[in-house]
Amino acid sequence: MKKKILKDVKIICEPPQRRWGGFNGLEDEAIFYEKWVKEFEEFIRDHRSQDPVYLNVEREYKECCEFCEEEWETSDDSCPLCCQKAVDEFETNRRPTPTHLRGDNN
Ligand SMILES: [Zn+2]
Repeated sequence: MKKKILKDVKIICEPPQRRWGGFNGLEDEAIFYEKWVKEFEEFIRDHRSQDPVYLNVEREYKECCEFCEEEWETSDDSCPLCCQKAVDEFETNRRPTPTHLRGDNN
């Protein structure tokens, strides 16, 4: 049976811009926050009774298909499950390169 264990503890900080939005994609948003946390660290350091606080922006990635952008899942033999393009690519790469087309001279 599955059980839930505490793996890690993180502190989440939400700058106001998080709610305002207006970013040109997630990467743009991440870059903005990386700059913002540095400025916020400086701001906190100016409050002399406060020990330094270090803030980090953590990007969370997932593996997805380059063609259909669905989450990357494969069958037991590593064949992708999401779309035909991914399956075609897998089949192409699985086929061994014919000997006369190989670059090596072994
Ligand atoms: Zn796909």
